[in-house]
Amino acid sequence: MKNNLMLGVDIGTTSTKTVAFTLDGRVVAQHAVEYPLLCTAPGMAEQDPQQIYQAVLTSIAQALQAVRAKGNHDGVALVSFSAAMHSVIAIGQDQQPLTNSITWADNRASVWAGRIKTEHDGNAIYRRTGTPIHPMSPLCKLMWLREDQPQLFAATARFAGVKEYVFFRLFGQWLVDYSIASATGLFNLQQLAWDEGALALTGVVPARLSTPVPTTHHLQGLDAAVAAQLGLPADTPFVIGANDGVLSNLGVNAIHPGQVAVTIGTSGAMRTVIDKPVTDASGRTFCYALTPDHWVVGGPVNNGGNIFRWVRDELATAEAETARQAGIDPYDALTRIAEQVTPGAEGLLFHPFMAGERAPLWNADLRGSFFGLALHHRKEHMIRAALEGVIFNLYSILPAVEDLIGPTRRMMATGGFARSALWRQMMADIFNREVVVPESVESSCLGAAVLGLYALGLVPSLDVISDMVGSTNRHVPIATNVAIYERLRPIFMALPGKLEQEYLALAAFQRDAPTP
Ligand code: ADP
Repeated sequence: MKNNLMLGVDIGTTSTKTVAFTLDGRVVAQHAVEYPLLCTAPGMAEQDPQQIYQAVLTSIAQALQAVRAKGNHDGVALVSFSAAMHSVIAIGQDQQPLTNSITWADNRASVWAGRIKTEHDGNAIYRRTGTPIHPMSPLCKLMWLREDQPQLFAATARFAGVKEYVFFRLFGQWLVDYSIASATGLFNLQQLAWDEGALALTGVVPARLSTPVPTTHHLQGLDAAVAAQLGLPADTPFVIGANDGVLSNLGVNAIHPGQVAVTIGTSGAMRTVIDKPVTDASGRTFCYALTPDHWVVGGPVNNGGNIFRWVRDELATAEAETARQAGIDPYDALTRIAEQVTPGAEGLLFHPFMAGERAPLWNADLRGSFFGLALHHRKEHMIRAALEGVIFNLYSILPAVEDLIGPTRRMMATGGFARSALWRQMMADIFNREVVVPESVESSCLGAAVLGLYALGLVPSLDVISDMVGSTNRHVPIATNVAIYERLRPIFMALPGKLEQEYLALAAFQRDAPTP
């Protein structure tokens, strides 16, 4: 039996997915196991680490079963991992979790994010660690746990992320790859080691954290029972891999200067790659590790496809329902309605900050608004303005990114928004860049698998990815539209800065308002 398969496993926020690829990147089979996000208190977003570990085992075993059901009996050359960033689990003396996994979406450390920014020179910590000071980051979460749950904090033998926990269960070692570590806010990007200053703030010593290792680090020697459960030989190499963001860049073949990966799913992100770590003087961007020669710089936005969902469910409810009854996808129907209006929605702008905003403004108090409403505007203008607003908002990260890495050219676009030709063309026009949509694969799983090939010396560089990623759609900017958006863009971008005090006052009003 030849080992002609590679498995990419992505431990995500809604599910763990395993994709089995041939060594040249063709998908053979896949399997996903979902788990819930536990949100029973305000700001809480946790997951059960035991459930995630079981999901990892099941997704691997089921993906392999699906491979065999297709009559493929090749062996597995490697299993390589991607995982969501920023998770924290408190582990007790007996190596058992004392808490759930506190995910990136958990907001309960927000007070601490504010204090680190204002009282502890947060900008200097960000510049050393590459992680914006935000409640998502383990730095803020550790400070929150220390102050709010001192007994738990004292009883904790170590803090680990979800992938560290899975690797401990598989191999009995507490290891963290440089990539996940670089998104903790606790890891010094230049030294590739835990940052003394950041750790001093949290009161955690390096012995209470996992040992940092390169993303190419691999282990062998599964426990016989686990190997049998997975359906793999015990000596199958397991590559620790990286975080899901940087692996998604690799998985869409955006790993060279000038190439930008943009995702708009529920939320969104823009990411690009540079060969050394860089941070932004005003803290607008993150910098996370892929390999020593590949660093991913970019920004996440809270407001992406969730805005179009809101339009579908709250603004254009009747139109969406009519579409459903006609057996048409409501998003497709609403896109067609938006198409009836010319670019720029006849002077209507929409700020999509309905979920506050991360990059580039990093202000949870921002709120959405239509700007420029006039009596000639109808619902179709509002729908179009909302779609344009999501893209304008993503565009506003670009100056920060280009300040750091230089000019960008081609964009690789992924996520649910890419199902709409109108929305894709808007991206090409607003960014004034070519937009390419890669063939739909689980990009973080493919990225993990290719990093695994490189880790084991089966390929000379990560560039093999370029032969694995095809494209489905390509859009070039339309000059007349570009000209319209170039006039509107500065107006869109100037407003949030001008309204800072008013956003703050409205947020205070909302906090004080009696709940009905
Ligand atoms: P997730 O981030 O949860 O993985 P997806 O990448 O599937 O989600 O993106 C979901 C979003 O994609 C939806 O909220 C919606 O805004 C957008 N979307 C889904 N289908 C379409 C469509 N046909 N046209 C335009 N946008 C769509």
